[in-house]
Amino acid sequence: MAEEHNKTNNSSPHVVIFPFPSQGHINPLIQFAKRLSSKGVKPTLITTIYIAKTSPYPNSSIVVEPISDGFDDGGFKSATSAESYIDTFHQVGSKSLANLIRKLVNEGNHVDAIIYDSFVTWALDVAMEYGIDGGCFFTQACAVNNIYYHVYKGVLEIPLQAAAPPTVTILLPELPQLQLWETPSFVHNPGPYPGWAHIVFNQFPNIHNARWVFSNTFFKLEEQVIKWMRLMWPLMVVGPTVPSMYLDKRLEDDDDYGMSLLKPNHIECMGWLNNKPKGSVVYVSFGSYGELGVAQMEEIAWGLNESSVNYLWVVRETEKEKLPKSFLANGLIVEWCRQLEVLAHEAVGCFVTHCGFNSSLETISLGVPVVAIPQWTDQTTNAKCLEDIWGVGIRAKTPVTRTNLVWCIKEIMEGERGAVARKNAIKWKDLAIEAVSPGGSSDKDINEFVSQLSPIKC
Ligand code: UDP
Repeated sequence: MAEEHNKTNNSSPHVVIFPFPSQGHINPLIQFAKRLSSKGVKPTLITTIYIAKTSPYPNSSIVVEPISDGFDDGGFKSATSAESYIDTFHQVGSKSLANLIRKLVNEGNHVDAIIYDSFVTWALDVAMEYGIDGGCFFTQACAVNNIYYHVYKGVLEIPLQAAAPPTVTILLPELPQLQLWETPSFVHNPGPYPGWAHIVFNQFPNIHNARWVFSNTFFKLEEQVIKWMRLMWPLMVVGPTVPSMYLDKRLEDDDDYGMSLLKPNHIECMGWLNNKPKGSVVYVSFGSYGELGVAQMEEIAWGLNESSVNYLWVVRETEKEKLPKSFLANGLIVEWCRQLEVLAHEAVGCFVTHCGFNSSLETISLGVPVVAIPQWTDQTTNAKCLEDIWGVGIRAKTPVTRTNLVWCIKEIMEGERGAVARKNAIKWKDLAIEAVSPGGSSDKDINEFVSQLSPIKC
């Protein structure tokens, strides 16, 4: 049921799309590229040489061009630290991006816009050097961007907040009152990850030079904070960037992001799920990047076993050694899965999630209620939104204990709160579909962007 076209030619608008090279940033920008392609725009997706080598992208409607991040042989994990990766990526990546733009132009291409991840603000400086319009793409919730912006502006003073007693609360425009621990981890505990803290607080210095600002959320999900941000920036809200087959079904065969940095145990997962009763499975994942402490891993492992439910738990290879030695899983443990297919499976009744923003949007888009176990970065604030604002689940106490996890799972799978969360999740699912369908808020914003791309000068 492909309603939209994707025929492009050399006079079609051409947009270069540049995600930060991690799974949680690549996924939304790939989906945005697919949407643009369906509306007659030619997208070129930039990835790193290492990712292009190790995770080739099969979708023929999007051209992939690799640039160097300075770690061509081993990628991010071969850097000595996040700080060294971020710094080298900036130095090497900006030169490599400039070379790519020159190459594209020398080959006779026009480049009408560079849509860059808000984590690589330097890409806008490169775009401007070549007279190309830039669009800053935020992959995190507007609620979270709002908080980071106030840190950037000095309204939230990080050392003061860190030193503040835990009872301090924070009140920012269009957000509910937040406890300190409900802010992103970099706000209440900036010490351990200075490189990431620097990136998230510094997404804004050149944003006034961006012709567009995009956000992967949808209007009704974050209406108040979106309205507030629109007073400052030309914000286009284009999410949820979940493959079309799970939402409006207008993009033919679009049922997967398509670039998986880890290999999914797909057949095993689906075979296992197919044998489970409707709504009986708890799906558990902590995303592509985060690392659990050994004690947390142990509590979660025993909690899942003790909860006596069917569970499917993603434990990445690098995390497996933290499983308790004597642990024999009652459920299925896989190293990676196709999360969307799992969440969409009728056997799944609950998502125990770290609350990465993609996972949050995916669970909402598929109507699955959650038990939230946020770890760090924006996850603490996303968990607040999932429980208190969107009403789709409950937060476990952190650090989570096995007893609390058993209680949370029971509450969502069998309790009154679970019934309410499920109802709300279905409501959000319908609103997410509405947003990306013809005439919906996200669809309108994408159309508006396409209409603003400069026509080709003959
Ligand atoms: N994901 C997946 N398989 C898994 C676990 C996660 O495909 O086994 C995908 C998930 O659908 C999401 C992304 O990886 O799109 C993770 O992004 P998120 O923002 O949730 O968390 P992050 O990995 O950035 O912490």
